Amino acid sequence: MSATKSISIVGGGVVGLTLLTRLSRLLPSHTIHLLDGSPKSPPPLSPTDTSTIPTIRTYALNDASVDTLMKCGLDVDSVDNLRKGEYKSMQVWDSKTPSYLKFDASLLSSPKLGLIIEDDYITSSLETLASTLPNAHIIKGAHVKTVTNNSVTYSTSSSTSPQTLNSELIVGADGVNSTVRNSLNLGITKIGYGRTAVISTVKVEGEVTGKTAWQRFFPGGPLALLPLWGGYYSIVWSTTPTHAKALASADPDAFLSTLNTCISSGPTPIKFSSGSSLPPPLKAVKNFADDLVGTLVNGISLVNMNEKFGDSKRFETPPKITELISPRFKIPLNLQHVDSYTQGSVVLVGDAAHSVHPMAGQGLNLGIADVECLLKCIQSSTSTGGPVNDEYTLERYSKERRREVMKIMGGIHALHHVFKEENDLIVTGRALGMSLINMSENAKKVLARAAMGEN
Ligand SMILES: Cc1cc2nc3c(=O)[nH]c(=O)nc-3n(C[C@H](O)[C@H](O)[C@H](O)COP(=O)(O)OP(=O)(O)OC[C@H]3O[C@@H](n4cnc5c(N)ncnc54)[C@H](O)[C@@H]3O)c2cc1C
Repeated sequence: MSATKSISIVGGGVVGLTLLTRLSRLLPSHTIHLLDGSPKSPPPLSPTDTSTIPTIRTYALNDASVDTLMKCGLDVDSVDNLRKGEYKSMQVWDSKTPSYLKFDASLLSSPKLGLIIEDDYITSSLETLASTLPNAHIIKGAHVKTVTNNSVTYSTSSSTSPQTLNSELIVGADGVNSTVRNSLNLGITKIGYGRTAVISTVKVEGEVTGKTAWQRFFPGGPLALLPLWGGYYSIVWSTTPTHAKALASADPDAFLSTLNTCISSGPTPIKFSSGSSLPPPLKAVKNFADDLVGTLVNGISLVNMNEKFGDSKRFETPPKITELISPRFKIPLNLQHVDSYTQGSVVLVGDAAHSVHPMAGQGLNLGIADVECLLKCIQSSTSTGGPVNDEYTLERYSKERRREVMKIMGGIHALHHVFKEENDLIVTGRALGMSLINMSENAKKVLARAAMGEN
């Protein structure tokens, strides 16, 4: 196939499919191929049919991502979509201190902070939409082996020899272990968090699903309970690999009991280390200081719980989990960031370029924001008669996204460290910080804006 007016996207996850749909409309005279290694598409999921249980992989999507999916033609936010989990507020609390933080979309006069949506619903709907676009072609079961500046070589089970597609622009949307990135030998920073996520779907008491996303932080990482519909919730529990292994292999009743104990416990009074290694006079000073600081921290948290502040600040206990309705999967967590998102006519989007800890539910949101930025940059070139692979344009995309992703990545990394710490000083600092933020409308507006994907 000739390279002129041809674009190849490698990877058919949400990011690759979103790009295919948006780019095919932006550039109707280009032929756009999407090559995806998985041989089969997920079965279509009707948004009005809630008779099947939720599929296990779900995402918390911010308003910016929801907007992009709507632009693709997905009715993700419509009132008729009964398979969406809408969350209005978020409650975050600490397992080691009495502090918590609760913020609500109403702070910004918005109806919601975001949506929790199934991966299978988004991917199957985007594939169906792409099949109606004359210039978009999805090749399933196409395993990409190598990529050069203008060609993609792949194999399929139906063909004995590898096939090559020549393209003006190649986009790697092939996830954390990106073949595209590896083929180009792009430099990458990789830091293992030393944590593994256990994911599953559960049902809670009663049919009604609340509008709060819950997240309780342990030194191993956060346990999140994210609302879907009909009493279903997604669990994402980030913890140490040993604990994750035990959680994933525990008897289902034991797993449910651990989940309930961990998610239903409310704010915990702060406890300081014993200081047993200190000489007696220093130990006495430490005990005095601990009592003073403990009274202050516990007192500020009690102020937060005072009913006169109303529901927006008051701690809420999550619903009781009654049923485990899916298998449990373990996913090791790493931070990854590529040094440059582009080289020649090849560009990276989504997890191929960056991956972050799931604690803030940002990974896919960042990938969808990459798509929007790449489209904006390509449009600025093509609208003035330039090519889609203009080097300056792709560099601009790389710099802009790298800068934005670094900001979010830095914030998530700091949170990971702050909550991991058991040092008295840091524990006290984070307890005070959380309680004070909980009292400040302005600080919470900033958090709500960040959760919604606004700058
Ligand atoms: C536990 C957990 C919870 C998360 N929760 C959230 C959340 O709530 N919100 C959020 O925004 N993000 C979340 N994320 C992050 C999110 O899952 C990822 O950022 C997102 O899935 C990345 O999408 P992608 O399309 O870039 O990559 P992927 O979804 O990994 O898709 C890559 C695609 O490329 C294909 N592929 C790979 N190699 C090849 C090849 N050689 N040839 C052809 N095709 C290939 C694969 O088949 C796949 O279809 C979470 C992550 C984890 C681990």
